Amino acid sequence: MTLDINRLRLDFPILAQKVNDQPLVYLDNAATTQKPQVVLDALAHYYHSQNANVHRAAHALSSEATHAFENARAKVATFINAPDTAQIIWTRGATEAINLVAYSFGMQHLTAGDEIVLSTIEHHANIVPWQQVAAATGASIKVIPLEANAELDMAAAADLFSPRTKLLAVSHVSNALGIINPIEQLIAMAKAVGAVTLLDGAQAVGHFSVDVQALDCDFYVFSGHKMFGPTGIGVLYGKRELLEKMPPWQTGGEMIKKVSFEKTTFGALPFKFEAGTPNIAGAIGLGAAVDYLMSLDRHAIAKHEQALLAQLLTGLNAMPKVHIMGRPQVGAVSFVIDDVHPQDVATLLDMQGIAVRTGHHCAMPLMQALELPNGTLRASLAFYNNADDIAALLAGLAKAEEFF
Ligand code: PMP
Repeated sequence: MTLDINRLRLDFPILAQKVNDQPLVYLDNAATTQKPQVVLDALAHYYHSQNANVHRAAHALSSEATHAFENARAKVATFINAPDTAQIIWTRGATEAINLVAYSFGMQHLTAGDEIVLSTIEHHANIVPWQQVAAATGASIKVIPLEANAELDMAAAADLFSPRTKLLAVSHVSNALGIINPIEQLIAMAKAVGAVTLLDGAQAVGHFSVDVQALDCDFYVFSGHKMFGPTGIGVLYGKRELLEKMPPWQTGGEMIKKVSFEKTTFGALPFKFEAGTPNIAGAIGLGAAVDYLMSLDRHAIAKHEQALLAQLLTGLNAMPKVHIMGRPQVGAVSFVIDDVHPQDVATLLDMQGIAVRTGHHCAMPLMQALELPNGTLRASLAFYNNADDIAALLAGLAKAEEFF
């Protein structure tokens, strides 16, 4: 079966829009992806015909909403091959999922002298919560440095792990550089010293299949909106034995078994971690995004994305003033143009309907390590991009090179 990208593009109504009187060329997918009609329909259908609170009321609409909500959880569990739906905890996104682990696991289990291993390329969402844990517990943070090619220095990484290491928190795919980190090796290093592992999969799940059991990580987090689902919904996957031991982070309704003024007992997994009315529509919308992705030939899609990446890298490499950061493998490509501020280029591109991102990409320590105070220009791909999108970007950049 060959992939008809132009037909798949019709599934995403926003792609037909004009921006600044030009056809939209959307290359900011690492920030957020566009949503297919089936996701928009699922959101509308929930509010139109199913809206009720979940898990509590004794009426038909509530049981229908509960069924749709829990069914979405089961879809997500299948999507990442989690062994049990109870190990899928809804959060607002990757950020909240990391915070949940930081506060419920990190604050409880780490003490002075313990170490947390992070990497230089982390998104702020996978740095700042651990700094809070370190500040509160006396633990310290060790950072895997980069090699000259902007990849993680694995020899240096090996030296960082010791019996003091209690946690490894690292991204599966870099949002700024599009590099796939050697997570299997890193997980093995962490396990060898008995450390718990958290993978930030925000930039992975939209591009390739992830199997949390094959990875054998302890926690895996991601955001719905970067994999064609709605904003405000995300996922924490965790190993059952860890989740069982962790105390609730937020408390209130929904997450309890029994409450009296003397004592409260907490609900079972996953509800123990889901205080308050959840983002019901968001979860159902994410379930629809999972269905949509699973209905596609993911192998063919990945191949198409690789072809676009090759087209982009070839085009950029042919521009004398352009410098690509590292060796992008999936999704994002960061680059700079000699003597031109990235924001000026982005503004010129925007006038042509081309959406890219500039700046530090929520990875200030990485930009510091790369000595890029102005950050980079970042073009990031999704499977609905086509060769015309890449050609438009390259033509826009050629104009910018001339203009500045
Ligand atoms: N980690 C990575 C690698 C990301 O790219 C992002 C989003 N840019 C996040 C974490 C945070 O995701 P969210 O803002 O959806 O919580």
